[in-house]
Amino acid sequence: MSSPIRAGYISIVGRPNVGKSTLLNELMQQKVSITSKKRQTTRHNIIGIKTEGNTQLVFVDTPGMHKGQDSAINRYMNRTASSALQDVDAIVFVVDKDVWNAEDEAVLERLKNVNCPVIIAVNKIDQLRSVNDLLPHVGRLSSLLPQAELVPVSALRGNNLDSLESLLIEKMPESPEFIYPEDQITDRSLRFMAAEIVREKIVRLSGDELPYQTTVEIEEYKETSKLVTISALVLVEREGQKRILIGEKGDRIKQIGCDARMDLEKLTDSKVMLNVWVKVKSGWSDDERALRSLGFDDDGK
Ligand code: GDP
Ligand code: MG
Repeated sequence: MSSPIRAGYISIVGRPNVGKSTLLNELMQQKVSITSKKRQTTRHNIIGIKTEGNTQLVFVDTPGMHKGQDSAINRYMNRTASSALQDVDAIVFVVDKDVWNAEDEAVLERLKNVNCPVIIAVNKIDQLRSVNDLLPHVGRLSSLLPQAELVPVSALRGNNLDSLESLLIEKMPESPEFIYPEDQITDRSLRFMAAEIVREKIVRLSGDELPYQTTVEIEEYKETSKLVTISALVLVEREGQKRILIGEKGDRIKQIGCDARMDLEKLTDSKVMLNVWVKVKSGWSDDERALRSLGFDDDGK
């Protein structure tokens, strides 16, 4: 007799920059969530669906939980991340291999009262000289959250992710059927993914010169059998930011477009024509209404 179907939701939580989105992409073996060295790269809950054999794991990648509720976008991201602690079948709490700070502490507080299994993924172990260096940190973590199981991993190098995945599969409830169709990998539209990919290139290529207040709107998304045509509008807050983004003789915006197009061609499995425009729209990140008009509604789709 074949084994029963197991299917469930798994939230990936942790402070900004510990590697949550990298972990999701590695588990999925493809990019569903954008990543960078900067905080606030992930703004929405992103779902990655992995179906193998009789199991379906539905991962929810969350924006890091932030301290401070200063701007509307930070409040939105905290709400989004918190909602992912409810109604899930397991939680992966991602922490760094040796750094533990007040932001980790704040996430831990929220995990003390959840009623599903918690697995702590101790990430970035590729940066350690020896695994023995992990011991003091691991000891502290297990006393902080005694009910949690611990798995050391490197999301970037893909180390030990098999152990993490097997552990997660054990935690999934039996189910009469899969939650999503077997061939579906995310709940997001290609249009949404296109905007996210353009935003990833902006965050990566504009270095520290540009604050995170940029957003990308897809004005056109047209698909024919031979070609996908996409027009992306990048909104920044000030004229100076527009100049930074465009770069000298348009070099930077060209590079952003070129990198994004390559990713989009992989994603759509088609030739892509991508136009990227930059426009100044002041004050949007601090205005709830403007946020909503750009698609930052509560379920973030
Ligand atoms: P998030 O904010 O938690 O989603 O973090 P990201 O996934 O965007 O990653 C933040 C940064 O950490 C990126 O520069 C990643 O390349 C890097 N990173 C993630 N996982 C690892 C890892 O296992 N090892 C190392 N060395 N770097 C990692
Ligand atoms: Mg992220």
